[in-house]
Amino acid sequence: MQIATSTEPDRARFARHIALPEIGIEGQRRLASASVLVVGAGGLGSPAALYLAAAGVGTIGLVDHDRIDISNLQRQILYTTAEVGAGKAATAAARLSSLDPNLRIIAHDVKLTAANVEALFSQYSVILDGTDRLAVRYLINDACVLGGKSLVSAAIHRFEGQAMTYVPGKGPCYRCLYPEGSDALVPNCADAGVLGVLPGVMGSLQATEAIKLLLGIGEPLLGRLLVYDALSLSFDEFRFQRRHDCAVCGDAPTITQIRPEEPLSKITEWTPQQLAAELKSGREDQLLLVDVREPVEWAAGRLPGSVHIPLATLPHRSGEIPANVTPVFICAAGARSMAACRWFAGQGREAINLSGGVGAWSSVFGAPPAPDDHHHH
Ligand SMILES: [Zn+2]
Repeated sequence: MQIATSTEPDRARFARHIALPEIGIEGQRRLASASVLVVGAGGLGSPAALYLAAAGVGTIGLVDHDRIDISNLQRQILYTTAEVGAGKAATAAARLSSLDPNLRIIAHDVKLTAANVEALFSQYSVILDGTDRLAVRYLINDACVLGGKSLVSAAIHRFEGQAMTYVPGKGPCYRCLYPEGSDALVPNCADAGVLGVLPGVMGSLQATEAIKLLLGIGEPLLGRLLVYDALSLSFDEFRFQRRHDCAVCGDAPTITQIRPEEPLSKITEWTPQQLAAELKSGREDQLLLVDVREPVEWAAGRLPGSVHIPLATLPHRSGEIPANVTPVFICAAGARSMAACRWFAGQGREAINLSGGVGAWSSVFGAPPAPDDHHHH
């Protein structure tokens, strides 16, 4: 583990921590010598990293390859209007350093991939997942399970947030909660719309969990999924257990190493807006919209120009997707289409998932038409 530049805490700065018997000067020293990696310096990563820095966590890494966009400022409170266009990792690092110059802040301006995840994680003891892509969430989980790292995971969608903590050998992992291909996928992403203050709550909870883990105090969110509903202002808790058949932490795991050729890297997620823009950009010849829903759903309305290959029939009908096009898989809410993407990517081909499915498309562009199908029997 890397040591912060100074491990003797400033007693004036941390007086309100030191006054707590559960922390004290010893606890503050532990925080000063601790290291936390925040993956995703966005809506969740902003408050999480700010509070970790304010709390005196000596080494904080930030992984983000994005640039600051004006639409980020509604929730990504690390950034200012003047910084629009700048890289997030370096900008966030500068902000945290200005909060406390004694901290060691490391900007990793890279995209987290199967090729670099183990090297990045090896430098830190606790990982915070603030990403908004499901494939990356599995990658982070697997790297934590295989590398013996504690993980504090959170996700946000519209007005709802979820959080859970994984500690090696102490409780279930993210895959135990959401096995790959399950319908209960965490809705991805702020692209669909999110209350700006929501990640403020969830990111603060992540920082709370990380600090508790580093200090060894309290009860972490092990085997408990915390669900926060901002509209009803309520917290609910769902208990879950380690799955004996979990692919990575189960009794006979099938994932025993991070493979750089991970087929998930071939999957891209598009919002309805991104798909509409791509279809208008003249790229439509290179795309094929493939609707994987059941016939009754397909008959009720579908995106113009889409073809129908129900998910269960994809393995023996994938030859209908020409080699020179990239399929955009579509379902009702984005989960079955992601399963289709995974299967397709497993064949070594690129696939695109319509995030949120027909439901998300309808909320942006209106429900797609049910064409007058003269060939329908
Ligand atoms: Zn597991």
